[in-house]
Formats: sequence, C-alpha cells, structure tokens
Amino acid sequence: MGKYSVDQYGYYGIYGGAYIPEILHKCVDDLRRNYLRIIESEDFQNEFTSLLRDYAGRPSPLYLAHRLSARYGCRIYLKREDLNHTGAHKINNALGQVLLAERMGKKRIVAETGAGQHGVATATVCALRGLPCTVYMGKTDVERQHLNVEKMKMLGATVVPVTSGNMTLKDATNEAIRDWCCHPEDTHYVIGSTVGPHPYPDMVARLQSVISAEIRVQLKAHEGREKPDYLIACVGGGSNAAGTIYHYLDDEDVKIILAEAGGKGVDSGLTAATIALGQPGVLHGSYSLVIQDENGQVTEPYSVSAGLDYPGVGPLHANLARVHRATVIPINDDEALRAAQLLTRIEGIIPALESAHALAALEKVHFKPDDIVVLTVSGRGDKDMETYMKYFKD
Ligand SMILES: *Cc1c(COP(=O)(O)O)cnc(C)c1O
Repeated sequence: MGKYSVDQYGYYGIYGGAYIPEILHKCVDDLRRNYLRIIESEDFQNEFTSLLRDYAGRPSPLYLAHRLSARYGCRIYLKREDLNHTGAHKINNALGQVLLAERMGKKRIVAETGAGQHGVATATVCALRGLPCTVYMGKTDVERQHLNVEKMKMLGATVVPVTSGNMTLKDATNEAIRDWCCHPEDTHYVIGSTVGPHPYPDMVARLQSVISAEIRVQLKAHEGREKPDYLIACVGGGSNAAGTIYHYLDDEDVKIILAEAGGKGVDSGLTAATIALGQPGVLHGSYSLVIQDENGQVTEPYSVSAGLDYPGVGPLHANLARVHRATVIPINDDEALRAAQLLTRIEGIIPALESAHALAALEKVHFKPDDIVVLTVSGRGDKDMETYMKYFKD
C-alpha cells in the first residue's frame, strides 16, 4: 500500500474515517468488507472495462494542445474527460458503483447531486441496468440546473427537490443519507465524489483511477515516458483529481497541482476554497477540512461553478495538501471564466467551468520549455453556456 493511500482504518494521515449514525453501520461495514474483493474480481473488471470502453467511450484521448503549449512555454496534454458519455468523468464512478451495488444484491439506487452532473450520470447507468433511481437535489439547484433535472426525469429517475437549509448540495446530501438510513438493506447510495465515510473516498478514487492508468500508457506512446512533470486538475470533492493522480501518488518527481474554487476571492466571504480556508471537522461522515464559522457551523460555499461549491473536500486531498505532496491554488471566478474563453478560442474546446479552474492554474506556475504537463479537462461546457453567455455578452 502506498504512502498516500488509505490505511486499514480508513484514514489518510489524520483525515478520513467513517462518522456515521448507528443505523448505517451494517451497510457501510458490508461495503467496507466487500468493495475491494468485488472491484478486484475478474468478473467485475471485465464488465466494468467493457462498459467504460463501449458505453462511456474510453479511453478518453490524451491530446497535445499545441497552441495552449506555445502560450505557456511547455508541452501541455489535455486528458479529455469531456468526451465521455454524459460529458464528464462522473460516468466512470457511476458505472462502477452501480455494478458493485448489483453484486451486493442491492435493488435500488439513491444519489445526491449539486449541478446535476452526478445525478444525470447515475440516472443514466440506472436506465442502462433497469434499476429504480432517486436523486436528491437542493431546490435552489433544481431551479438553476433545469436541463439536467429534465434529463434525469427522461432517464426515468425520481428527482426530489430538497427544501432544508440553503437548498443546495450539502442539504441534498443530508437527505440522501436520510433515505439510505430508512432503506439500508435494499439500497445503495452512489456518492458522486471522493467524499463521505470510508470506504467511499477510496472506492471512488479507485473507480476513477482509470484516468491515470490511461495517462501512463498514452504519455508513453506520445513522449516515450509514463511520467509528466506536472499533473493539474480541479477539485470540488476531488474525484477527477483523484483519478488523475492515483497512479502517480508515489512518484514524488511528478508534481501535483490542484485548483480549488476561490469564488469572488478567498477573503471575500464568497468562496469555496476549502483547503485554503477550511478547518478540520466532520462533514457527511468524514473527518476532513470543512469551511465553517467559529461555532463549527458549516458555511455556505460560493463559486460560479456549481460543481465546485462544496464546503468540504476529500480526505485524500486534505492530506496531500497537509503533507505538501500537492500544491493547492485557489482560482477566482473571473480567472476561470477567462481561462474557459482562452481554451475555446485557441483550441476549439469549450470546457466545463469546473475544468476551467484547472486551466487557469496554468497562469500561476512558471514552466520550463521541456516540462510536460498533463491537465484533466473534467467535463464539457454545454451545461455552462448560460453563464458564459452572461459573462461574455460584450
Ligand atoms: C462534478 C464535477 C467536478 C467536481 O467534482 P470532483 O469530484 O472534484 O471531480 C469537476 N468537473 C466537472 C465537469 C464536474 O461535473
């Protein structure tokens, strides 16, 4: 087991664990005892691999972005998760968790969603497998992300608008956990990122690790070596970043740069820069960094990007920052918006706003001409067109 991997108790350094209500102990324990055996079995691997290939469209290309490279004076490869079915990396995790749920005898799926991307990915896989699916979504997000709500309904999922709290992702997650508590025997809760109680962060990281497994093979074919000098990804809960770095964690010569959402600015009060501002605390079953006030109340996060405004972060990433294995850079809304426009204009790729945070990090690093950089474009920008239109109208 690697130095940065989860330990046998479910911790990454001081972070992680499983802080859950009594009623979920059996469920989470069943998952903990079975996930590795199932994921590593030949039967699971065969089915997962063929669905990733034939259904999701993997491997996603590793594209040498010539004009972007010229602009930053190094060799930049884009890992094109935007080209996956449903438009982002989230389908990797949804496919894996639903196949795992089936093997654990579960008959029903619940999920939470913020921007709706994870909800759409989960509803998609449930349609594929004929499983009933309930997606909890904050009422505010239901209104903001109407198209994704309609997609989930068309896919046959039940979308439940959540009216507690600020009616966003944190509240939807609470509601999904509550549902799971009521149906622990027959239901699997598909968490959308590397968050939640152990074993979820490790399970999701492993399911997304197909990203870095592919990068190693593809970079070898392009450059004759498997290791880049830099890996760059955006971090909401941390799943696309975990997938990007998974097979490089112990290669200390590969630098890891994580872009988190600065919102209007880290000191503005309107931010989702959890690693910069967060204090240790428990959120949704995991001990990690959490943005909270002096009374330990979770503060509502803000980012122009709906996929990054989560008040917590995965325990893997909190630990990587703590031990300085990763450099974390907060990116503000306007920096991300400008980076999205740049990529669109010079490479003809409209990225998701989340991914644009990773692209904006390119401005903040001083590269050498022979540096090889691999940056994950976690999703496509279709869902963000209204925001882009509003920002770029003049
Ligand atoms: C959900 C989402 C993210 C943020 O989630 P992570 O778990 O941090 O990867 C980033 N990019 C896109 C396109 C997303 O849909």
